[in-house]
This record gives sequence, structure tokens and C-alpha cells, in this order.
Amino acid sequence: MIIILKPKATKQDADEIIARIADLGLKPLYMPGTERTVLGAIGDERVLAGLHLESHPLVERVTPILTPYKMVSRDIHPENTVVKIGRVPIGGKLFVVIAGPCAIESHDQMTATARAVKDAGAHCLRGGAFKPRSSPYSFQGLGIKGLRILQEAGRKTGLSTTTEVVEAGDVPTVERFADAFQVGARNMQNFRLLTKLGRCRKPVILKRGMAATVEDLLLAAEYIVSEGNPNVILCERGIRTFETATRNTLDLNAIPFLKQTSHLPVIVDPSHGTGIRDFVTPMAKAAAACGADGLLIEVHNNPKEALSDGQQSLYPEQFARLMKELRPFAKAAGREL
Ligand code: PEP
Ligand code: MN
Repeated sequence: MIIILKPKATKQDADEIIARIADLGLKPLYMPGTERTVLGAIGDERVLAGLHLESHPLVERVTPILTPYKMVSRDIHPENTVVKIGRVPIGGKLFVVIAGPCAIESHDQMTATARAVKDAGAHCLRGGAFKPRSSPYSFQGLGIKGLRILQEAGRKTGLSTTTEVVEAGDVPTVERFADAFQVGARNMQNFRLLTKLGRCRKPVILKRGMAATVEDLLLAAEYIVSEGNPNVILCERGIRTFETATRNTLDLNAIPFLKQTSHLPVIVDPSHGTGIRDFVTPMAKAAAACGADGLLIEVHNNPKEALSDGQQSLYPEQFARLMKELRPFAKAAGREL
């Protein structure tokens, strides 16, 4: 429920209403604006009806939030949320590019790739230390050793870092080494993991599950935000459809939909979205053009020998060209790169 107060309502009036909302066991939200204050009440709306706030002398209007997700909805938070990975703001004017290998394989591989993406103008560094692979025989990642390598590469290049966390028990460890968590497509509905991340402060890049609707994605984000962590970045990475020509079908419709429906930043991963190196640049441009806040891109210093996702990883020169070619698209969409 959204409760819009009259302009003359004071902070004290708002506090009094907030206390009554909390007494009912609902979660109150306080959103002061330049002209008037807006309050929110999250929980069972039938309970709230008992407060009869619509007849309160300082309440202008009470409107229900009709979507099943509440805190991530634009209804309750009309302004864009800007989430910071380290010092890099995502969701503002800057079009943010996060780049790096699928998996952290070695010190040399990570250092060379980090330098290359930094030189080309990337803002953040990615790399997986815990890899959720379809086959149990595939490379599973270097674990904590990988996290140390990522941290060092981030420090050397001055890039903020992000890495995937696959289980709730690993959250404190990953939090120590990286600037942001990534929740992979296979874990988008791991609700224990989401709840645990909701109790952290560091940002979470939440990737859309390969068979998840955008509503499922927003509800997964709601798990994190409702636990107290507002720093969620939504990521479209392609879904499974009947089409098999590409690894996934990159659902760019989701970008304007998510931007309109939610205040959270939205980024696009054209690497997993297409699964084919040569399609990454065109789809990266398309993502910028349709209003995404940034990109997550796989780059490898030597893709031919990559231990995972080599076929979709860009060569460093290819990534540098992408960054140059992307600029006019970001500019046309009103962003800086
Ligand atoms: C990844 O980013 O390397 C990854 C495993 O992505 P996804 O979870 O989208 O498959
Ligand atoms: Mn990958």
C-alpha cells in the first residue's frame, strides 16, 4: 500500500503513522519527497485496511500496489536506484561495462585479461571462482584461490570486482574478496541464498533464470530487497526457447519492461545471451540502444584455451573494438561511456 501524505504533514505526523503500520506487523517505508512525503506499508494489505488511513486528516491518498513484488516496484520508488559496485555507480548516467573471463583459471590469465579490459575502458572486472557447470566433469573453478587472484587483479588494475556465489554458506567468504556478488541463472530461485544476500550490504547482480519470467526475476529481487539489501542489479542473460541456432534467446523486450516496472538498474549479458563470440558486439549495441544500464561481457586473453565458455569469450582486441563502437549507441541512448 502507498500512503501519500498531504504537503502540510510533518515528520512527526509521518512517524506516528509509521508506528501504527509497524504495530500491525507490516513493514513501513518512509520516502520523503520535495513536495510531499510518501509512506509505504508492505505485507498483508487486508490488515492495513483496519487502520482506515484514507480518512486520516493528513493523508491525501491511499493506493494499493497491485504487483506481487512491492519494494522493487517503481510504484513505491519512482526514481531510478543507483547501485555502486565499489566506486562504480550503475543505474545513473554512466553506461557501465563489466568484463572479464567466464572463470578465473590462473594468476597469469586473470592478470592479462584484467589489464586488457581495463585498457579498453571497462569499469568493473568479472571472473568466476565457483562455477556451476552443466557437467560434473567440467572445470568447477578454483574456489578461494580464484577469489584471491580476482582480488589481486582488481587491486592491480583499480577495477571493482564481481564474482558468482553459488551457495548460502559461501556468502561471507565471497563478500570478503569481491565488491559484488553474482547470482547465476541456475540459482535465481535459490531462496535461501537470496535471503542470505538480503542480509548483506554489498551489491548483488541477479541473473535471470533460463526458464524464468520477468515477474519471477522481480520476485527473486524482492527476496533480497525485502531482507534489507537495496543494492540489486537485474541482469538479462537470455532464456531457453524453441530456437536452437544460438545458445539462448536474448530477451531484449525485458529491458524496457524491467526499466518501466522497477527502479532497479538493469544490465545485459550478451555473452550467455548468444553463446557466439561474433554476436556479442551487435547485441551489446542493441542492449545499449534499448535502455540497459550496462553490460556483462566475457573476455579472455586466449579464448581458444579457455576452460569455460571460450566460444563466446571475446579476444582482447575484439573487446577494445566493441568499446569504441559502443560509444555512439550509449550516447544516442542518453548515456556516457
Ligand atoms: C557466468 O556469468 O559465467 C554464468 C555462469 O552465467 P549464467 O548464470 O547466466 O549462466
Ligand atoms: Mn560463462
